[in-house]
Amino acid sequence: MLKVCHLYPDLLNLYGDRGNVIAFVQRCRWRGIPVEVLEINVGQPVNFNEIDFLFLGGGSDREQSLMSADLIKRKEALQEAVADGLVVLAICGGYQMLGQYYLTHQGQKIPGLGILDLYTKAGRQRMIGNVVIEVNINGEPVQVVGFENHSGQTFVGNLEPLGKVLAGFGNNGQDGLEGVRYQNVFGTYLHGPLLPKNYRLTDYFISLALQRRGLPAELTALDNRLEEAAVQAMVSRLL
Ligand code: GLN
Repeated sequence: MLKVCHLYPDLLNLYGDRGNVIAFVQRCRWRGIPVEVLEINVGQPVNFNEIDFLFLGGGSDREQSLMSADLIKRKEALQEAVADGLVVLAICGGYQMLGQYYLTHQGQKIPGLGILDLYTKAGRQRMIGNVVIEVNINGEPVQVVGFENHSGQTFVGNLEPLGKVLAGFGNNGQDGLEGVRYQNVFGTYLHGPLLPKNYRLTDYFISLALQRRGLPAELTALDNRLEEAAVQAMVSRLL
């Protein structure tokens, strides 16, 4: 049994980000892996040690300022679980909140969790459009597609990016990097939703979650012809 936690589904759920949870769950169920989903909002308790896949979606500046204080209260518990290999996927607003802070246009500094040593500041230009990045999955370069819409520019410093930008803006439109990966924590600007559009990434996260529990991470093969054709259609239009 794998346990999925969708954190702040009422506040952080832009552009159908919930679809990431649906895709993760569905690809487990197709393989006979039972999954339970917990939806945790501000003020509700959760034991991160029991969670196998933690998901945070995107949100506007307003929504980020509403969940920031609650997230910070969970810092120690989350830090412990991350050190233990918890698989985390955070998109856009959620990604920004894992870092040190997000400085808005109005000069408001919204504190982040500080689990990742990165920061974000609102830029003048909104970065909107389809994206292709190249991600290393188990030593193989994989093209991952998505859609971005953010004004925040994230700088990951010495941390490893999730991938390099082949089309689109990525973290900040300047350094050619997209997202971040730290232990089993993944942050990215890619909505789409990301996982329904990128089955290889979904399976990678499922494998990591199984591995962490000492379960066999080798996944039963599924028929991915439709998913692969969809990725290729987008890649061929953008590259
Ligand atoms: N408010 C943030 C930004 O514009 C995040 C937006 C989002 O999650 N799409 O940078």
